[in-house]
Amino acid sequence: MNIKANDPFLMSWLEVPANSDFPVQNIPFGIFKYDNEEPRPASRIGDHVIDLSALADFGYFDKLEIEDLNVFYKPVLNDLFALGKPMVRKIRNRLSDLFEDNNEELKNDHEARNNALFRIDEVQMMMPVEVGDYTDFYSSKEHATNVGTMFRDPDNALLPNWKHIPVGYHGRSSSIVVSGTNIHRPKGQIMPPESDQPIFSPTRLMDFELEMAFVTCKETQLGDSIPVEEAEDAIIGLVLFNDLSARDIQKWEYVPLGPFLSKNFGSVISPWIVTLDAFEPFRVNGPKQDPPVLPYLKSEGKKSFDINLEVYLEAENQPEHRVCRSNFKYMYWNMAQQLAHQSVNGCNIRVGDMYASGTISGPTPESYGSMLELSWKGTKPITLPDGSRRKFINDNDAIIMRGYAEKDGLRIGFGESKTKILPAK
Ligand code: CA
Repeated sequence: MNIKANDPFLMSWLEVPANSDFPVQNIPFGIFKYDNEEPRPASRIGDHVIDLSALADFGYFDKLEIEDLNVFYKPVLNDLFALGKPMVRKIRNRLSDLFEDNNEELKNDHEARNNALFRIDEVQMMMPVEVGDYTDFYSSKEHATNVGTMFRDPDNALLPNWKHIPVGYHGRSSSIVVSGTNIHRPKGQIMPPESDQPIFSPTRLMDFELEMAFVTCKETQLGDSIPVEEAEDAIIGLVLFNDLSARDIQKWEYVPLGPFLSKNFGSVISPWIVTLDAFEPFRVNGPKQDPPVLPYLKSEGKKSFDINLEVYLEAENQPEHRVCRSNFKYMYWNMAQQLAHQSVNGCNIRVGDMYASGTISGPTPESYGSMLELSWKGTKPITLPDGSRRKFINDNDAIIMRGYAEKDGLRIGFGESKTKILPAK
C-alpha cells in the first residue's frame, strides 16, 4: 500500500532528535493536557506535541470534508477513530503535508503555530481512548510453551486447542491506565507452598507481561463477523501494553475459568496510538502455522510486524537495566486472525476496544516477556547493576517498556510505558 505520509524521504521543518521514535513518518494520535485546560487530541513530531484542536480552529482540516470537526476537541479519540480508517489516513496525510519541510502554509502562520505546538515536557499525556471492552489473547507459542513446561508437562506444554484457536479471555477495561500511572501491589488469596489452606496477603510474585495491544475503529452489529481478510480495516493502531500479573493469586484462582483478580488491578499502556499504516514498511511473514488453521482463520500475505520490544527494570535510585529484548514478529497468531476469531461467533466489536496480544516471548531466554519466564519460576534470579537480585518485582521498582520498528534509517516507535509498583494499600 502506498501511503503518502510514509515516504521515507520526507523531512519536517520541526526538529527531530536522532533516534527519535517520532519522525514525520510516524504521526501517531494521543490525548494531551496542558495546565488546567481540557484534554484534547494531539499528534507528535520529535519532541513537539501538535494540538489538533488548534489546527482545527485555524481551518487546517477544512478541506478534508469531515462532517463534524468536534472530533478534534474531544477528551478521547473514540469519535475521531469512528470516522474510519480511510479518513484517519487522510488526517495523517494532511498532518504530514503541513509539517513537511517544503510546505510553508503552517510554517509561516505564526499565530496558528504558536497555538498548536507544545513541548512534550510541558504537557501531560492522558488515556488516548475510552476502552469499552478489553480482550487478552495468549498468542505467543514460546510463552505458552514456557508456561506449560513450568506448570504442567514439558512433553505436552501446549494444550490441544492452542494451535487451532487464538486462545484469549475477556479482561477488564476499567483498570487500563496510561504510562506514568503507578500501581499498588495487589492483595488477594494465595495458597502458600506446602500449605493446604489459602491465606490473604499482598502478592509475593508481582510480575509484568510484555504485550502489544491493538485498538479497533469499527463498530459491528450483534451477529456480524469480521472476515480475516477485512480485519485490518478495523484496526486503527497499536500501543505497548504492560499486563501486570500477580502469579501466586493467578495460580490459585485460574482453575477452571482462567485469570480473574490476578490480572485486572492495572495494565499500563504507552500514550501514543501508532497507526497500523505507519508500520506498513515493517510487515513480515509470521511463523508457519502447522497444523493448518480452519478456513475462517486463514490469512494471506504479510500480517506480522517486525517491532523491537524491550523491558527495563528501574530499582529505586538505580539506573534502568534492560531485562528483556523481544519482537512482535514472534507472535504465532496475527492481529487479523485474533479479530476474526473474536467476532466469528457474532460478538459485536466497538470503536476503542483494546485487544492485547498476550505475553510476547521469543526463542531465546533474553527474549522472554515476563519475570516468571526470565527467572524461570524464581530459580534463576536476575542481577541488577547494584548487585541486588530479582525473581519478581519489588515494591518501588519501576517497569519500563519500549518498542520501535527500524529499517533503512527509518525508525517508528511508541515512546514508553512506565509504571512503578507501590507498596500494597
Ligand atoms: Ca496477559
